[in-house]
Amino acid sequence: MRITYACTACGSTVTVNDAETKPSLVCSRCGAVTEMATDAIARSGPGGEPAEVGVGEPRLRRCLVCPCTELFARKDFPQRLGVGIVVAGLAASCVTWAQRLLVPTFAILFGTALVDVILYLFMPECLTCYRCGTRYRGAAGPFEGFDLETHEKHRQQRARLAGQASVGPPASPTP
Ligand SMILES: [Zn+2]
Ligand SMILES: [Zn+2]
Repeated sequence: MRITYACTACGSTVTVNDAETKPSLVCSRCGAVTEMATDAIARSGPGGEPAEVGVGEPRLRRCLVCPCTELFARKDFPQRLGVGIVVAGLAASCVTWAQRLLVPTFAILFGTALVDVILYLFMPECLTCYRCGTRYRGAAGPFEGFDLETHEKHRQQRARLAGQASVGPPASPTP
């Protein structure tokens, strides 16, 4: 399982491979240690038998970085690549269309759409934490696709926390 998270100390994006075999996450930039919740990875298989760490995909119960239990699964598909393929296909079809080559035009349009679909189908799923945005690759879990309502809930929670932080602690009275 590969984890990509934002370091709580320095804010840089940290990627950790084989995270399930490590006792804690260490920031490669500032060295800050993020303790992983020990119960976040399910150690038992679907039949209740103990699942060995490193065999198959580890099952996540919740986020390892924050206590959030809400994650969403989505295809690990780089959106820019998908858009890039479509744009390249459109540009190429414009050239053939200008030369009145009807069959190549439709072949290019159909081909680029097909490439997008095939790429999408073969892309692995990636889990993302609603609360802290940590991404998990090579992990399974009982999580559904993206839900806008849950996302909005966490966004408002974050905004509230940020508002409280900017107000800061009450100033101590000066004698
Ligand atoms: Zn750091
Ligand atoms: Zn999280």
